[in-house]
Amino acid sequence: MRDLLPYLSLYRKHWFGLTLGMLLGFITLAASIGLLTLSGWFISAAAVAGLSIARETFNYMLPGGGVRGLAMTRTAGRWGERVVSHNATFKLLADLRIFFFERLAPLIPGKIGNLRDGDVLNRLVADVEAMDHLYLRLISPVTIGLLGIAGLTALLAWFDTSLALLLGAILLVMTLVWPVLFYHLGKRNGRELTEHRAQFRIAMLDWLQGFSELTLFGAERHYRDAFLAKQASLLRNQWAHAHITGLASALLILVNGLTLVVILWFAADGVNGQAPDPIVALFAFAAMASFELLMPLAGAFQYLGQTLTSAKRLNDILLTTPEVQFPAMSAQSPTSHHDALVFDNVQFHYAEGKPAALHGLNLAIAKGQKVAILGQTGSGKSTLLQLVSRYWDPQQGLITLNGVPLPQWSETELRQSMTVVSQRVDILNGTLRDNLLLAAPEANDDALVARLQDVELDTLLEGKGLDAWLGDGGRQLSGGERRRIGIARALLRDAPILLLDEPTEGLDKQTEAHIMALLARHYQTKTVLFVTHRLIALEQMDSICLMEQGAIVEQGSHAELLAEKGRYYQLWQSIA
Ligand code: ATP
Ligand code: MG
Repeated sequence: MRDLLPYLSLYRKHWFGLTLGMLLGFITLAASIGLLTLSGWFISAAAVAGLSIARETFNYMLPGGGVRGLAMTRTAGRWGERVVSHNATFKLLADLRIFFFERLAPLIPGKIGNLRDGDVLNRLVADVEAMDHLYLRLISPVTIGLLGIAGLTALLAWFDTSLALLLGAILLVMTLVWPVLFYHLGKRNGRELTEHRAQFRIAMLDWLQGFSELTLFGAERHYRDAFLAKQASLLRNQWAHAHITGLASALLILVNGLTLVVILWFAADGVNGQAPDPIVALFAFAAMASFELLMPLAGAFQYLGQTLTSAKRLNDILLTTPEVQFPAMSAQSPTSHHDALVFDNVQFHYAEGKPAALHGLNLAIAKGQKVAILGQTGSGKSTLLQLVSRYWDPQQGLITLNGVPLPQWSETELRQSMTVVSQRVDILNGTLRDNLLLAAPEANDDALVARLQDVELDTLLEGKGLDAWLGDGGRQLSGGERRRIGIARALLRDAPILLLDEPTEGLDKQTEAHIMALLARHYQTKTVLFVTHRLIALEQMDSICLMEQGAIVEQGSHAELLAEKGRYYQLWQSIA
């Protein structure tokens, strides 16, 4: 139950709407029970009056008005309760999603790199949604139920205390027993239901996303069977769930019938020591109607298992501390510091026990210097750039930017100080304009078009121009086009440090030469860290670092390294 605490505190903000919703729910329920009880009494009283002299004096106006009033209150109350409580719960859910997302975002990629997309999505959608069960199915019906029992007992006690207490006691026992009983009956199934739903979504997303590849390798069937199997277990849980709900209602109706018999048994000889009169009907109808109090409780508590499992799944994420935390303000950078970036004995491994991706790396890059990092695939080049962007922090050693250690930079200032063209360029589902503006929100359309022309992507402007839709349901881009979108983004930004991770990978020789010339013009005044595994544009660099297995093994200018006749020289020889 402690798992639910973080969510209850979110309720506080919406207490007014939620309490008003419960109040309206209570009024509706009172009107509903009152309606049946009053009409029951009214019909019997009118019948009895009709058979006797009292027909002359029987006041049918007042109860008739009461019945109408209660019927209208019930309708209006139900409407009001739905509007108010739905409004409040939707606002609560919106807050909850934002609350969850704000805690999820800093965990990327360090802490949730090992969660599947489908799983994160499921937590964000289904598990967050399960949190409103707590109010709609548990807190609200139990509160209204208890208030209702107290109110009804008090009202009936006015006619006959012992009968009122008997009915009240039966209702109270039911309110206590039913939740406990059905919580336990539904607990295991509820937990499985939540877990199977998550697994089902993960398997289905896997199958959908990999569909073309799976078809080409003939593995589609296997994956489809896996996801159908998950679906079958989910359906089994839903089947069991529906049956438990049905059982809860059926048993409740049975107990309702028995209660009616018991009340009639005690009331038949007359209420409060009087001869049998229409008040007997009042008690009978009150007993019948009172179970409306319990109906929402009948199946509700089997949801508690699901809600608890969802809360646990959300807490997995909410209670994790991010590996990388940014201070709110950057530390003052020493003026006229000479080096832009310094790696001091940097040691990094992705996980405990994994071989180090970088070990004992030392490198100083002066302001305005252009440095190339050259190395075979897997040698740790991208890792190096990711450490500079603080995707992760090194386990040992320190990286300083303009003389200030990276952990003392605020996130905004750190991001503003550098432009990154990462190895994998992500295209968002949005227009071409959206995809470029994310790098420079203030840029105007002319600037965007000019940068697209620079990277020879003006073909994308045909048709809808900057409004062309990219990503899902829109224009699909080739690998080389994506990369050039990444470069256009970099050109739009004017940060003093430029980090390029294989910016021309996958481009043909001619386009590559064009892009390198373009970048050379763009970065004249900037500090550049250029990662590549190809021997391109290296003559333009002030310094070249050859990386092997996470360490720099040779460093110097193109001419120096060739003169050294070391590995760099061998590389050139091998392609000559
Ligand atoms: P490439 O030229 O292929 O891009 P790279 O030099 O950029 O290679 P890195 O991506 O830095 O290589 O990877 C260095 C090592 O770290 C590799 O052995 C890789 O498998 C491992 N690695 C990279 N990313 C992760 C990650 N997120 N989790 C665990 N290991 C990783
Ligand atoms: Mg790489």
